[in-house]
Amino acid sequence: MQENIDALKSLILGHAINIVITTHQKPDADALGSSLALYNFLLQYGHHVSVITPTDYPKFIQWMVGNDKVLNFENDTYTQKKCLQLIDEADLIFCLDFGNYERIKDMHEPVAKSNARKVLIDHHLDPEIKAHFTLWDHHAAATCELIYDLIVLLSGKDKINMPIGECIYAGIMTDTGSFRFPSTSKKVHLIIAELIALGVDNSKIHRLVYDNNTEEKLRFLGYSLAHKLYVLPQYHTAYIVINSEELKKYNSQTGDTEGLVNYALSIEHVYFAAIIIEREDMVKLSFRSSGDFSVNNFAHMHFEGGGHKNAAGGKSILSLEQTVNKFLSLLPMHQKELQSEYN
Ligand code: 5GP
Ligand code: MN
Repeated sequence: MQENIDALKSLILGHAINIVITTHQKPDADALGSSLALYNFLLQYGHHVSVITPTDYPKFIQWMVGNDKVLNFENDTYTQKKCLQLIDEADLIFCLDFGNYERIKDMHEPVAKSNARKVLIDHHLDPEIKAHFTLWDHHAAATCELIYDLIVLLSGKDKINMPIGECIYAGIMTDTGSFRFPSTSKKVHLIIAELIALGVDNSKIHRLVYDNNTEEKLRFLGYSLAHKLYVLPQYHTAYIVINSEELKKYNSQTGDTEGLVNYALSIEHVYFAAIIIEREDMVKLSFRSSGDFSVNNFAHMHFEGGGHKNAAGGKSILSLEQTVNKFLSLLPMHQKELQSEYN
């Protein structure tokens, strides 16, 4: 990045160009927050900027400034056509918070084939996308941390206004588990201090994200913990299984299952947790670990996925039952690694 920063700088600080920003499917606060922080920054230079998400995303992040301009590629055929045109006409495409094209679903082909110059900004392990400019650091707590760095590098802190600050705050807050994961470095706290000095209301953002549950979501949480949580002490593992009828019964919305897996990980002596959910087109798995067990490797080896060492995801085209059986059959192979939190 360092040697290319001047080239990127002249593009961004130069005359107006067409820019597309995209991020991974089912964006979370870091994915959307980094996209909209960058969007609000680039607008200051008069560029024509579009944020396109591959899918919809949860309501509790839709307060971010610029959210009303975001295009959801899956929304309808009209929107999709418009998105394809924007991708086709783009001079620059930013890929934020993902490292391989599968993560953008049906946008994979148009983005990969586009002649636009690409910028990859990400903190996931093992990125595969070859971009013209790459800002990648798997030690970064969030892609929002890297967006903060990029803005400071290109233009200095003065360009970070309230909308940008709020988006960055939300991404860092959620990706660090409200500043409790090991990724919460001194640098993270220094950035957060800067954002609070700018006027970002940390308490308000926490409430917007975490205290906006529907009653159904909480009932669903209660049901899942009471009836669908399984604990395997011999493997220091806990997992939750949710089928499609249960999702329907509790009117589960996008984002409603986010964070459920953390409850499984919060059990004493549990170092590995999973949630296995029967979605429309596949079975989706989310993994969390504490300590040395790498769920990124586990997801990569067994479920075509990836992520970070302690938080990763994957998928399966088997039935829900078969997927659960596969998951259970893999545990003996990892029993030694799971015997203690730190090996
Ligand atoms: P979550 O479990 O919250 O959906 O995701 C945890 C982490 O793993 C996130 O950083 C997310 O981007 C990543 N992740 C989730 N699902 C997948 C997947 O199917 N493939 C890859 N490569 N990463 C995933
Ligand atoms: Mn992230």
